Amino acid sequence: TSLKYTFEAPCPYKGTTNFNTGIFIDGKFHDGSEGKTIEVFNPSNGKKICDISEATPADVDTAVKVATRAFHTSWGLKVPGSERGRLLMRLADLIEKNAEELAAIEALDNGKAYSIALDFDVAQAAAVIRYYAGWADKIHGKTIEVDETKFAYTLHEPIGVVGQIIPWNFPVYMLSWKLGPALATGNTVVLKTSEFTPLSALRVCALINEAGFPPGVVNILSGYGATVGAAIANHMHIEKVAFTGSTLVGRSILKAAANSNLKKATLELGGKSPNIIFDDANLEDAVKWTAFGIMFNHGQCCCAGSRVYVQERIYDKFIADFTQHIKTLKVGNPMDPDTFQGPQVSQIQYDRIMGYIKSGKDEGATVLTGGERHGNEGFFIQPTVFVDVKPEMKIVQEEIFGPVVVVLKFKDEDDIIKQANDTFYGLAAAVFSRDISRAILVANRLQAGTVWVNCYNKLHPQVPFGGYKQSGVGRELGEYALANYTQVKAVQINIAAPAP
Ligand code: NAD
Repeated sequence: TSLKYTFEAPCPYKGTTNFNTGIFIDGKFHDGSEGKTIEVFNPSNGKKICDISEATPADVDTAVKVATRAFHTSWGLKVPGSERGRLLMRLADLIEKNAEELAAIEALDNGKAYSIALDFDVAQAAAVIRYYAGWADKIHGKTIEVDETKFAYTLHEPIGVVGQIIPWNFPVYMLSWKLGPALATGNTVVLKTSEFTPLSALRVCALINEAGFPPGVVNILSGYGATVGAAIANHMHIEKVAFTGSTLVGRSILKAAANSNLKKATLELGGKSPNIIFDDANLEDAVKWTAFGIMFNHGQCCCAGSRVYVQERIYDKFIADFTQHIKTLKVGNPMDPDTFQGPQVSQIQYDRIMGYIKSGKDEGATVLTGGERHGNEGFFIQPTVFVDVKPEMKIVQEEIFGPVVVVLKFKDEDDIIKQANDTFYGLAAAVFSRDISRAILVANRLQAGTVWVNCYNKLHPQVPFGGYKQSGVGRELGEYALANYTQVKAVQINIAAPAP
């Protein structure tokens, strides 16, 4: 079945999108094995966009069989890296060629602003795929000299069929984080999109065919976590699983990996990241980055700077300027080119976030701005700033995953290190200071996989990303991600060692 959807004004993309709503196995679209469908909603108004096919565990089995065949016949070690790179390069070009359409789909399905989807999500998805295309023919092992009678060499071989599970906050961008390194290194893929935001990946499936990937190399299933996600995590013939989402589900993925075939697992999970403003920082810039750090993507970023710590001397001035700036962020129709913040992704997320806002108010924190629903349809929430918070409050401790921030005070370096690291998360952190030595010394003491200095939420294909503590296992992006998708074989050669 295909869906034809025409975007209306004010969407800057004036065209139509036409994508297949089936599940993508072996280069073709199919109905799910049980013939069921999933309803997909527009978070800007809560109305249904379309029905798409729902994959099942039986479809996972089919996809794994197909991907296994493709691995042994038309991918993996059968195809030189240069050819894999060429196809990935083509896919990146096709994503760019169709960027406006993909951005419009993201705005419709996820609710993020069209202009941000275009300039960030889609542009960066192409950049990530292109970056890994460059690696495809540069994956090799080492020669190791042992002694004059022996030497060894290593091969960095693909793992085989890999399972990937992605969330709804950056649908097409997360797709690129997963497909890029897996395909560059020669693995075949069975990937599940989020049931909340499956549409952009369905459009990308057609681009994967257009790029010329052999059938079965990439298989993309729309389905629920408890069925399809769990089937991937438990599958006996999937040798590696990569997951991005909540810490709760991440834990179940590791358990499933352990209980099934001990598949390798990498996890990209939640955070409650501290953003630290020293009193010598450029205040105007720090205010803007801090707002961007938490409110970008409506607060639905795993690395969101959701705990802001400001040094005592500038606290009052900072919160006044910060609140003022937050009030200028435009919330509204994601299709409108000026919009910064659209709706939250779903009713469930909307309810969760409003629950946290209520708990903050009930526990006695003060709302400086926001704190309510925005408008009267869709899942919009006002950007919300809390002060007068205590470290034990839920809004300080737990990941809210919405446009809600708490601003606290700190005294000096030792005090901020203690407060900042007082969490079981460790995804990201930021330091604002004009004293670069101080910024580096603090960065060194922060328990986080990413530390930004004088900026926030900057991601680059070349730079690794991942969590300390319970924010994750392994690193994505950069050269580091290649190790997730390769296994090292050591071949030991006897030149002249006598037999024992
Ligand atoms: P989630 O972890 O439930 O979903 C993420 C992905 O995992 C989806 O594709 C989902 O279908 C799948 N999934 C769900 N249950 C599964 C299971 N038992 N086995 C295998 N796969 C499963 O996240 P959510 O419910 O969509 O959001 C809840 C919270 O997760 C958010 O509020 C936020 O805290 C966090 N989150 C984090 C990220 C991130 O980028 N780290 C992204 C989305 C959500």
